[in-house]
Amino acid sequence: MSIGSIDIAALDGGQVNVSADQVGALASAVGGQLLRAGDAGWDDAVLIWNGMAAQVPALVVRPSATADVVAAVRFAADHGLLLSVKGGGHNIAGTSMAPGGLTLDMSLLRDVAVDPAAKLATVGAGCLIRHVDGATQEHGLAAVLGFVSETGVAGLTVGGGFGYLTRRFGWTVDNLEDVEVVTADGQVRTANRDENADLFWALRGGGGNLGVVTRFTYRLHEVGPTVTAGMIVWSAEHVDDVMAAYKELTESAPRELTAVLTVRMAPPAPFLPAEWHGKEIVAMVVCHSGEDAEADLAVVRRLPGPIADLITQKPYVAQQAMLDATQPKGPHYYWKSEFIPGLSDDFLTAYRDGALRVTSPMSQSVIFHLAGALNEHAADDGAMGNRDAAYVTAFAGCWPPPDPRSAEHLAWVRDSWETVRRFSTGNYVNFQVADDDAGRTAAAYGPNYDRLQQVKAAYDPGNLFRVNRNVAPRP
Ligand SMILES: Cc1cc2nc3c(=O)[nH]c(=O)nc-3n(C[C@H](O)[C@H](O)[C@H](O)COP(=O)(O)OP(=O)(O)OC[C@H]3O[C@@H](n4cnc5c(N)ncnc54)[C@H](O)[C@@H]3O)c2cc1C
Repeated sequence: MSIGSIDIAALDGGQVNVSADQVGALASAVGGQLLRAGDAGWDDAVLIWNGMAAQVPALVVRPSATADVVAAVRFAADHGLLLSVKGGGHNIAGTSMAPGGLTLDMSLLRDVAVDPAAKLATVGAGCLIRHVDGATQEHGLAAVLGFVSETGVAGLTVGGGFGYLTRRFGWTVDNLEDVEVVTADGQVRTANRDENADLFWALRGGGGNLGVVTRFTYRLHEVGPTVTAGMIVWSAEHVDDVMAAYKELTESAPRELTAVLTVRMAPPAPFLPAEWHGKEIVAMVVCHSGEDAEADLAVVRRLPGPIADLITQKPYVAQQAMLDATQPKGPHYYWKSEFIPGLSDDFLTAYRDGALRVTSPMSQSVIFHLAGALNEHAADDGAMGNRDAAYVTAFAGCWPPPDPRSAEHLAWVRDSWETVRRFSTGNYVNFQVADDDAGRTAAAYGPNYDRLQQVKAAYDPGNLFRVNRNVAPRP
């Protein structure tokens, strides 16, 4: 393919004119694809989940091997180009796209190799959760990943990661054994608890600040292939009773059971009676990966009058994909979220009051139960930290553009979040939005931030990897 000279956004905020010969040299060094606007594959490469954060790079490299990542990182470093990395493109702040710059789209790197005897999976950095779940569940094994199967594993993992299995096995990064990563100097490094241990520590939550991970090795656990899981839904008139049951359930639940509470307007889904569509509902999403699920769920089933009860024995992969349709790519999304230490009456009242004022039929308020294995690690075991989290709560705004009420939807998220902030023990870097400032990113790491800045300075002193929730290298 022949690409002429091109202006590319630079690290210093200006533009670099990269000559046709230089672009040609990059094209010949890359075994995968080099794309510009209009090329086949371009639209997919630059599509991200949050339409509100959409940005377009000047050039996309789609590596087909680690050597391509090395070539692209060196090219960006040599020319001082703004560089970003796209895993699944689900980052809420839209950090996978380098505006006017060079974007590495990892989507050709989707190999998954499962070693069932060692209970390990080695996964290409372009995988979505469903690729990993599909391969591991063939062996009755699962990695600790998130609960929307279209999410990229790379961004989720480097930011910390949680899902239905977190109560049993900790953050995703607590189950990370090894990575291959290309650092800002173009070196390919292995990092694990023994080799490049400082880099590995920082990659366990430090986001895309340290380099481009090309493969992750996860420890797997025996889960499924079937679980007792699904959703149960009531009218929001019963929100206080359902919240009380949720508190009772989560405070006594075994770690095999994870429950999520959500308040929203009923979507026009076939599993909900048509007369409820658009009306406010409260629901629990549960996933029980152990024995005695029915007994453990008795407190939920005691509540009268559900509109729909979809909790059943089902494949783990079906549960992982159950919410995918509620999270299409392209609408505008705006989230605010906090980790919470417990469900005090004051917190639940604040949560409920915000939740019931929801303005958009696509927005929702969520409480996700996390307490368990993650709390048993030392506070500085990995940059992710947040070891005192027991729940995470989020006000998740969503609306299709253009929407004349978008300011109202945004205000609902911000106002509701303001009322629960006082209960927070910290925030999750992977749930930050584009207008969250550097202070909020630092706060996400709490006491681990200093050390993270030091490791950043050691591996990326020039802050080549800055299109992310940026950790400035310590001067
Ligand atoms: C619908 C939805 C559901 C979610 N559910 C969960 C959940 O259950 N649990 C949870 O923990 N989080 C969840 N998240 C948050 C999610 O973890 C982040 O949005 C994450 O950034 C998504 O990863 P990605 O690869 O798709 O992101 P991308 O947008 O592709 O990348 C985000 C950032 O990750 C970094 N990155 C990406 N690839 C690499 C790489 N190869 N090497 C180094 N850095 C890289 C870069 O800094 C990049 O800017 C959810 C998000 C959405 C939108």
